[in-house]
Amino acid sequence: MQGFASTKQLFLDLLFPAFCAGCGSEGAVFCDACRALLLFIPPSCFVCKKLVPPADGVPAGRTCAPCRKKSRIYAFFSPFSYDAAGVRTLVHDLKYRRMQGNAAILAGMLYRAIAYHGVVLSRHALIVPIPLYKARERVRGFNQARLIAHALGTRMGIPVRADILLKTKKTAPQMALRREERLTNLVGAFAVSDTESVRNRTIILMDDIKTTGTTLEEAAKVLKAAGAKRIWAITVAH
Ligand SMILES: [Zn+2]
Ligand SMILES: [Zn+2]
Repeated sequence: MQGFASTKQLFLDLLFPAFCAGCGSEGAVFCDACRALLLFIPPSCFVCKKLVPPADGVPAGRTCAPCRKKSRIYAFFSPFSYDAAGVRTLVHDLKYRRMQGNAAILAGMLYRAIAYHGVVLSRHALIVPIPLYKARERVRGFNQARLIAHALGTRMGIPVRADILLKTKKTAPQMALRREERLTNLVGAFAVSDTESVRNRTIILMDDIKTTGTTLEEAAKVLKAAGAKRIWAITVAH
């Protein structure tokens, strides 16, 4: 059996050699040098980015008191910089080169960062990925946030519901817009399909990256309106 397994592995390695997402060298998804550079950014406030360590009864990454008036996000965790060598490559290849295996790699990185920083997520929560507009998902063939959410949910033992939150409006990418346009672009873009499952639940919103935060904020707004208790926001990178 051993011989068979290693022959099979060798065969797969020949067909699909792993290249470091950071520097491109052959051998592993991350070579030792690039892995050492992957920093786990500590939990911070969703709005002002101030670091928020855990305190009595208050989780790490809790939106800080002055920012609570401006946000419906209860707490936030996004452990990687999108500028980090490798992270950007993994996310980009997942979305635009359809390398769906990257979702499990990114979820694994997220899982280790969650454990490293002692971020406590309730098993009674629901993980809800940020949806794509139907037509866009059809073109891409999948929703990357959903793939990452399922991989993380499986590892953490937290249920994932990708059918609860819908993207009901086609919107322009936030990064392509001017500041004023960004604020109105996503208004009314999300809807909750199953209010019953959301009521009094803690929802963990998941996306691959956080850019301006408007997407997560708008999704949080409709989930809160549907009766959700608390909204966490978790992204791989920002
Ligand atoms: Zn490398
Ligand atoms: Zn703040």
